Amino acid sequence: MAVERGIRNNGAAPTPRAAAPSTTDARPQVRPTTEGWQQKLGPDGRPVLQFAEPKRGKPPVHLADLTPEQRTARVIELGLPGFRAKQLSTHYFTHCTTDPARMTDLPAAQRDELVAGLLPPLLTEVRRLRTDNGDTIKFLWKLHDGALVESVLMRYPGRITLCVSSQAGCGMNCPFCATGQAGLTRNMSTAEIVDQVVQANAAIAAGELGGKKRGETTPERVSNIVFMGMGEPLANYNRVMDAVRTMVAPQPDGLGMSARHITVSTVGLVPAIEKLAAEKVPVTFALSLHAPDDELRDELIPVNSRWKVDEALDAARAYFDATGRRVSIEYALIKDMNDHAWRADLLAQKLLARGRGWVHVNPIPLNPTPGSIWTSSEPAVMREFVRRLEAAGIPTTLRDTRGKEIDGACGQLAAADGA
Ligand code: SF4
Repeated sequence: MAVERGIRNNGAAPTPRAAAPSTTDARPQVRPTTEGWQQKLGPDGRPVLQFAEPKRGKPPVHLADLTPEQRTARVIELGLPGFRAKQLSTHYFTHCTTDPARMTDLPAAQRDELVAGLLPPLLTEVRRLRTDNGDTIKFLWKLHDGALVESVLMRYPGRITLCVSSQAGCGMNCPFCATGQAGLTRNMSTAEIVDQVVQANAAIAAGELGGKKRGETTPERVSNIVFMGMGEPLANYNRVMDAVRTMVAPQPDGLGMSARHITVSTVGLVPAIEKLAAEKVPVTFALSLHAPDDELRDELIPVNSRWKVDEALDAARAYFDATGRRVSIEYALIKDMNDHAWRADLLAQKLLARGRGWVHVNPIPLNPTPGSIWTSSEPAVMREFVRRLEAAGIPTTLRDTRGKEIDGACGQLAAADGA
């Protein structure tokens, strides 16, 4: 997931360790370090990476955890006719409701039983924050075991995007990230992932997302999903992929979304990227790179100690070869840390070494955070970074600041609630 999501401004004094300036850029080199908290280190002195989830009670099984066949079998197990499963799916995926009173096509005597058996509550809303004149809603959810996760709903011109979480906490231990600080609490279930979308669709249907055009009466739904909320999606591979399959399954079996409008991002779990390429589900794939050199990336993205920049880029290129889908490289521009001109040149060089036309770079400015090392690059530096990539022939789009503002708070609500 993107670097900027977990950036935490806790007011701590900056602790830059200046390194020797590069021969091609006189600016200092600020090294990544945590502010106000200690990264968990292993016996080798490296940040601990946690792939396995601690043992915890599983969330209740839900319709969205099951295939259409399994849903029918479950309804029959409850002693009801199998076709009720489709009706129930329509209520959940199409009408976004779990309220038995609204399921008037189902016999009144069976509604409660069906809902209790197949639509147990998974996400309890703790808090809802609105920004951007109501065009953005951030939801904080409590899961059945008290774990907290969040999702962010954003209206953009022509699309409505939901940023979803895939894990409670995260085991990737990135030094800038509030989510990663407490480690991995647990993987989210398939239905917990999907339910974020259904709940967002319910909020949209209730008219709670601002910015709708005057006079526009067409019903709206989430059109785009980005797996850039809490967690590393590819560390929860099977459940994330089952959730994606349900998102793209036609209604009423699923949400009927386009795979192309679903972005799965990763900090670079190479074997999982290779697995994703073999899936033949043409999602958009985003690699959160944030540094083209192993020296910096080893510190910035600890999983780089496992899979290096070149391996991650090879896997990204292989994803393009397998799917024909252009890969996004996410690059948060952090002042004096990773925004040097030579790094733009090195990034361009590494991408071009793997061919042309397969990749798009998205530099993302951070929020300006005075006093923190995790702060935005100067505008002129950003422009130069982009210019160098473009001059090398790499399609590059400096992302807009709204996404950044949303991203910047990832994990902080949960952290504030003591997750
Ligand atoms: S610790 Fe996890 S959630 Fe945070 S930036 Fe790293 S991969 Fe993403």
